[in-house]
Amino acid sequence: MALDGGEKKRDVIRFAPSPNGWLHLGHAYSAIFAYETAKSLGGRFLLRIEDIDVGRCRPEYEQGIYEDLAWLGLDWERPVRRQSEHFDDYEAALKRLRDMKVVYPCFATRKEIHDAIEASGIGHARWPVDPDGAPVYPGLYKDIDPAELNRLMWEGRSYAWRLDMEKALALAEEKAGGPLTFLEEAGGPRGQHGRLPIDPMLFGDVVIARKDVPTSYHLAVTVDDAIQGVTCVTRGQDLFPATYVHRILQVLLGLPEPRYRHHPLVRDETGRRLSKSAKDMGLRELRAHGITPAEVHRLAGI
Ligand code: GLU
Repeated sequence: MALDGGEKKRDVIRFAPSPNGWLHLGHAYSAIFAYETAKSLGGRFLLRIEDIDVGRCRPEYEQGIYEDLAWLGLDWERPVRRQSEHFDDYEAALKRLRDMKVVYPCFATRKEIHDAIEASGIGHARWPVDPDGAPVYPGLYKDIDPAELNRLMWEGRSYAWRLDMEKALALAEEKAGGPLTFLEEAGGPRGQHGRLPIDPMLFGDVVIARKDVPTSYHLAVTVDDAIQGVTCVTRGQDLFPATYVHRILQVLLGLPEPRYRHHPLVRDETGRRLSKSAKDMGLRELRAHGITPAEVHRLAGI
């Protein structure tokens, strides 16, 4: 009898920080949440370094991640996947999306987007913003004719690739045989859980590959979760809506669907989210002030 017959596959959980600043208490919470989830499911725990933003990521921050997580008493499988070493994987996925004609090259500069919104007559204050707070893309360069596209390419103008959200959603629904959903096992920002519908149009035509790097957060995270066999995605509720985009990409690219556990964000006493830029409650500072890993675990309260 085969030994693996009937053996349940272990869950795979990851913590996926970006080394663009020092980790703070919010990251510690997220890392502990992921680690404890893996433990409670009897699963594997991975660490992934999300360093596609080559301009902002720094080696000392990456080193800081390893040190801070080890200090917290967490342990993860090696080798660690570093996204900057896998641009080929994201390019291959982008090529498939291009072949499906659900992405288009976008030459727009920030100023052009700003001016287009201005010219719309709607006004910046009333223009819709996506869940990340960016203005929904006004569709410049979306339907330009092939000759114009050729000219811009020959001129060497730099371009991003945007998902044609309407087209992408329609094709994904066709492939899935109906509306897309995802399974939330913890809770969204308004306590939503269970099988939930997606609302990707909130994002409009999101960037799938940036001008400066041949991928984006959405594409890289979706591809990597599949490559690494992640079965249960844990992350902050700020990324809850991002799941709408990830589900579309999973269906279009024929990737497996993980379950999701979004956790609440750590806030300061005024209710503000902690941020790397504000140097909020950095784990290094807390450590220098004599806080112990046990106290951080207690603060995390998981
Ligand atoms: N790299 C992302 C961040 O640091 C997290 C990605 C994810 O967990 O999906 O916010």
